[in-house]
Amino acid sequence: MAGYLCRLCSAESPEACTCPPIPATPPFVPFPKIPRHNRGIVITEKIDGTNAGIYVSSDPMAPLIAASRNRWLLPGQADNFDFGMWVATYSDLLRGLGPGMHWGEWYGRGIGRNYGLQERRFALFNTTRWADGRAVRPACCGVVPTLYAGDFAKWTQEETLRDLRENGSKAVPGFMKPEGIVFYHIAAKMFTKVTLEKDDAPKSLETQDAV
Ligand SMILES: [Zn+2]
Repeated sequence: MAGYLCRLCSAESPEACTCPPIPATPPFVPFPKIPRHNRGIVITEKIDGTNAGIYVSSDPMAPLIAASRNRWLLPGQADNFDFGMWVATYSDLLRGLGPGMHWGEWYGRGIGRNYGLQERRFALFNTTRWADGRAVRPACCGVVPTLYAGDFAKWTQEETLRDLRENGSKAVPGFMKPEGIVFYHIAAKMFTKVTLEKDDAPKSLETQDAV
């Protein structure tokens, strides 16, 4: 066979190759594309409540479906701090979010750090879409406060953290124990967080996975 050369044993034809057969290869996972670092970021206040989602079907007759971080909150199943009940109560308004999955934080009375609230609130995460001055939100929805939006290179983490530490929560003005920030890199579609307390990494988590 013209041009055949086994890279392991230098055989010049498949018949002459003396190598053991190559075991079944694992499914191929390509190395991910690397996004540009110096692009837009959005820094928002991290609210200490419970992660919550609302699925709106494109079928206007289909009921809305509430979710916690990792499961649907179906009728008849355990709720998550009454979020499923809230979605059912406000479903006519919430349908105005439009088709798709809408994530946010469900916070206030009895959840996380409470924020001194007697009621509970839902703050949408997608500031690009729902921040004040953008699309009109359903009246029952808030949005997480934007602390910075712009080029990564011009953002100073310490300034943002100092502002939060000294001036308190923007979500609930007057609440002086905010949790921290959520960093979103638009091109990388990546979320990370920085908390005002206990932000140091356990040493065991600082190694890289094999790649
Ligand atoms: Zn060979």
